[in-house]
Amino acid sequence: MSSPAASSVPSSPSGGSGGPGGPGPSGESALNGPSGAPGSPGPAGEPGLSGSSGSSGSSGPSGLAGESGATASAPSGRSGPSGPSGGSGATAPGPSGRSGRAGSSAAYPGPVAVIGAGPYGLSTAAHLRARSLPVRVFGSPMAGWREHMPAGMILKSTPAASNIDAPQNGHTLADYCDAAGIPRLVTDEDLIPVETFTAYGDWFQEQLVPRLEQVRVVSVERRAEGRGYELKLDSGEQFTARAVVVATGHSGLARIPSALAAAVPGGPSATGPVSHSSHHRDPSRFAGRSVLVVGAGQSALENAALLREAGAEVRVVARGRGAVGFGSPPWRQPRFRPDSPFGRAWSLHAVSHYADAYRLLPARLRHHLVRRVLGPLGAWWLRERFEGRVPVTAVRAIRAARIEDGRPVLAVAGFDGSTAELSADHVMAATGYRVDLAAMDFLGPGLRTELAADHGAPRLRAGYRSSLPGLYFTGLPAAFSYGPVMRFVCGTEYASPRLAKAVAADCW
Ligand SMILES: Cc1cc2nc3c(=O)[nH]c(=O)nc-3n(C[C@H](O)[C@H](O)[C@H](O)COP(=O)(O)OP(=O)(O)OC[C@H]3O[C@@H](n4cnc5c(N)ncnc54)[C@H](O)[C@@H]3O)c2cc1C
Repeated sequence: MSSPAASSVPSSPSGGSGGPGGPGPSGESALNGPSGAPGSPGPAGEPGLSGSSGSSGSSGPSGLAGESGATASAPSGRSGPSGPSGGSGATAPGPSGRSGRAGSSAAYPGPVAVIGAGPYGLSTAAHLRARSLPVRVFGSPMAGWREHMPAGMILKSTPAASNIDAPQNGHTLADYCDAAGIPRLVTDEDLIPVETFTAYGDWFQEQLVPRLEQVRVVSVERRAEGRGYELKLDSGEQFTARAVVVATGHSGLARIPSALAAAVPGGPSATGPVSHSSHHRDPSRFAGRSVLVVGAGQSALENAALLREAGAEVRVVARGRGAVGFGSPPWRQPRFRPDSPFGRAWSLHAVSHYADAYRLLPARLRHHLVRRVLGPLGAWWLRERFEGRVPVTAVRAIRAARIEDGRPVLAVAGFDGSTAELSADHVMAATGYRVDLAAMDFLGPGLRTELAADHGAPRLRAGYRSSLPGLYFTGLPAAFSYGPVMRFVCGTEYASPRLAKAVAADCW
């Protein structure tokens, strides 16, 4: 194995003595100089969820106390989860007990199409079905979790913040544990393996969204006449939907710093010299190789720990002195602050429970908050697997990257203007995701041009409505409007009942 080399760069292991300027929170070595650049993985970076956090709150959610009360009975006293859904002939039940809207049914043909079968798509579909609306749901169930997260990963969110919201009782993570006959995951100290959470999502889907269609939507266009949208599937089918809910999560939105991207004109890839963390499922494929992991959030730190444990030689390259830190364990959380799914802090309480008020903040402030609140921070339980084991190099910036004899070389800037080079067998960018309508290419170009957007994200109104009638966004693409809670599974409790109510009001 050739080690991740750090020419002219202090290379102490984390927890060690650090480099010039002293160790950061995890004993990182810094490239000279006293000042630190703010380190951040970028907007919507990776989960800042805490199971505990330090400065910006903490973990220990003891239960979402959202405004919706969504795990109670089906909205409007309508039928449970057995409304029409599924397959291509999803029948529209019509107003289902409502009156006076018959004209609108004619104007809005077809079912509601939900694009995405992760936590947000499944939760939204369950709420729509509970309202007896005809729904077709597309996507690979829990694909983001099954295919784009490392095996052995532990969720950063606590069990109370990891429920996929349903319109009726009996579908929490703890309910799944009971059904599967495994120990209940309920307390803040109970850690959730990604495999368990994925199985929970599969179970939720089987229970509440049984006729999921595992195909991709390749295009969505507005109908030339009348209301609704024309959808094309990769099965070749085309159909008309009266409303479309985009719940495609992180798909296609992975971002890497431009300096790194420039080194790989063909794009980052799992098998090339530079990849994004979402490209990898199996850390053991790096056994015996050296890897530079770029980033400072949970994904970077946990990937680094998993790679090291799988036999790789790893170094974390973090932007900003002190960028690497870990939250406090649940038993060290402040007791006299309001609770939230992310921990006890006023700011976290506000963004968790007043997402509609968040929407009314000035766009610049929202842009700032969505990047900073719940920013990068390692989970409390990761500290002992990381500190003293994975070395960290703190840099002001990655200035450039190149590939030399098949190996990636990073030119990094220190805090006093000095530069150095780091090289390894592979660079993994754990640098998060950025919502960008331009990258959501299944939305037709005309439609993307028409949509009102801020900073590349759709601008949403109450009820998760976009500027186009009958088109809704939820999950990560809604975070710019509704706040950082939309980046996490617990945001389904706020979003899904409101979105389903809006669809029912607008289209039936
Ligand atoms: C490494 C990592 C760790 C995380 N850890 C946590 C955590 O501990 N706790 C937490 O709350 N959150 C965590 N998150 C955030 C979490 O992933 C999201 O909150 C959640 O998955 C969002 O769900 P979603 O349904 O919006 O999207 P996803 O789970 O990303 O699902 C997207 C769905 O869309 C489908 N899809 C995409 N494009 C199309 C198309 N064109 N046609 C049809 N289907 C399509 C996919 O098949 C998939 O089913 C983590 C994220 C990452 C990256």
